[in-house]
Amino acid sequence: MKKLFVLLLLLPVTVFTQEEKKVKNVILLIGDGMGLSQMSTAYYFNDGKPTNFSRFKHIGLINTSSAKEKITDSAAGATAFACGARSYNGAISVDTNLKKMPTLIEIIEKKDIKSGVVATSSITHATPACFYAHSNSRSNAEDIAKYLPKSGVDFFAGGGLKFFNKRSDKLDIYRELLKKGFILDTTALDPELEVRIAKKYGFLLADNGLESKLEGRGDFLKDATNLALTYLSKWEDGFFLMVEGSQIDWEGHATNAQGIIEEVKDFDKAMGEALNFAEVNANTLVIVTADHETGGFALSPKQTEDGWDYNTIEPKFYEGAADESVEYAAHTTTLIPVFAYGAGAEEFMGIYDNTEIFHKIMKLTGWNEAVVDENNQIKTNTPEINKRTFDK
Ligand code: MG
Ligand code: ZN
Repeated sequence: MKKLFVLLLLLPVTVFTQEEKKVKNVILLIGDGMGLSQMSTAYYFNDGKPTNFSRFKHIGLINTSSAKEKITDSAAGATAFACGARSYNGAISVDTNLKKMPTLIEIIEKKDIKSGVVATSSITHATPACFYAHSNSRSNAEDIAKYLPKSGVDFFAGGGLKFFNKRSDKLDIYRELLKKGFILDTTALDPELEVRIAKKYGFLLADNGLESKLEGRGDFLKDATNLALTYLSKWEDGFFLMVEGSQIDWEGHATNAQGIIEEVKDFDKAMGEALNFAEVNANTLVIVTADHETGGFALSPKQTEDGWDYNTIEPKFYEGAADESVEYAAHTTTLIPVFAYGAGAEEFMGIYDNTEIFHKIMKLTGWNEAVVDENNQIKTNTPEINKRTFDK
């Protein structure tokens, strides 16, 4: 009895009863560079179709500044989501002292929870990388790739093949993945594939990032989301899936309004799959957000000789973004919307820091609570991790 008491003291503060812990599956969709104007295109340029954004009832806002910069990049942004702590721009799940911070996927792997990562960029790109790798710099794609075979990721889909099989150090990380039991495909993703939970699956469908929507990417994001959900939902103990619409950001950097519109439409479809899944699978939480806004995008009225035409939307970027001397438009730091659906969605209302996304997920799922075995011995112990915050 005495022993049990001591162990209880060691447990993290939140104690759930079995009934309260209602979130088993978490689907986090990140629209890279998707501010309020980007997501608003779904209401004006969706070919007259309803947008899945309208299905959310619980909405919040996040401040996305990094530890050192008021305006974040995608690496610091994803580090905040994956580790629950702010770091510097360029950091891949390391803190400001370059110390590795446990990522969400590393934490849940110890608890036998399955995980998946889907992106339209290289799978080693900043946003997906932060969920399974650690590096001082987002540009170390080959170092980041080395983490994937030994990470807890069970399903991944995106680009980045060359960082696995055509490396400057001649290591064959592609073979490492096969040795770890991955079934790999470098040609196509079949949404009807018969997936078995005893296997792991990896799709590397381009040397670097995938094609853009304007270049003809097709329904990869929707199909990969669907296949990931088919696979992960075969696991009874729950899963975490991160899906990134990576190229909303890239079209913003390129000040390509049509590109943003097409990438948001694509993201909307993937979001629809996640929401359909959550609709029929209670205990599933869907969160949609972004790391930051890109381009200072605004849905402005067209200027005519007679003044403003309030019936014609002319998407514009911040002043100077399209200047010839500017290679690409920058990120901005407007607050970013958070949409939540399903179990625990109420938790995401209000205005808070981007790091809270991680802590709210952990609170609702209990994924970072210690597990005690039948002899009251702690099997996994990850309390008080990543609680640090840094001065801006
Ligand atoms: Mg990204
Ligand atoms: Zn960017």
